[in-house]
Amino acid sequence: GGRGCSSQRQLLSFPFGFLLFLSSGGIMFQDITTLLLEPKAFKDTVDLFVEQYTGRGISVVAGVEARGFIFGPPIALAIGAKFVPLRKPRKLPGEVISENYILEYGSDCLEMHVGAVQPGERALVVDDLIATGGTLCAAITLLERAGAEVLECACVIELPELKGRGRLNGKPLYVLVESH
Ligand code: IMP
Repeated sequence: GGRGCSSQRQLLSFPFGFLLFLSSGGIMFQDITTLLLEPKAFKDTVDLFVEQYTGRGISVVAGVEARGFIFGPPIALAIGAKFVPLRKPRKLPGEVISENYILEYGSDCLEMHVGAVQPGERALVVDDLIATGGTLCAAITLLERAGAEVLECACVIELPELKGRGRLNGKPLYVLVESH
């Protein structure tokens, strides 16, 4: 794998020393759970997204399993939007639409409940991290298949070397930290 992250560049004046690098099997893994241990840092992180998305007519915040379920709901509550979970296969109890996608190491699938989103709704997609962009691309496709308009994607961390930003069908991407 080509994952040799060695430094983090802060895009905003925020103490992102709260994020941790873990080396697992030679792959650098970016861990956001350390940020969650610090209530002020967690709140400041959510507030940065809320500031970015308040007043933009967003009625849907779609979060990608699993860590999009941590950041998405507080953002949705603060901006008065519904939260829609995009889940791994066979987790949602109702009727779903599915989208398969390629990962750095294998392939995966995201599912969304039919009827969770109405045609014409304005959506934001939230996850913790963008690497190749395959996951967010699948999330965008799911929402668009349901007739929603995806305004933007938001992540805490971007790995710019993997060029995922270019795979988002032209959708803007807002991130708080670039990790090189
Ligand atoms: P992508 O589809 O290649 O952009 O990978 C992004 C997805 O994989 C997101 O759902 C991330 O949560 C997860 N992911 C990939 N690498 C990492 C990492 O280093 N830390 C945390 N999550 C990661």
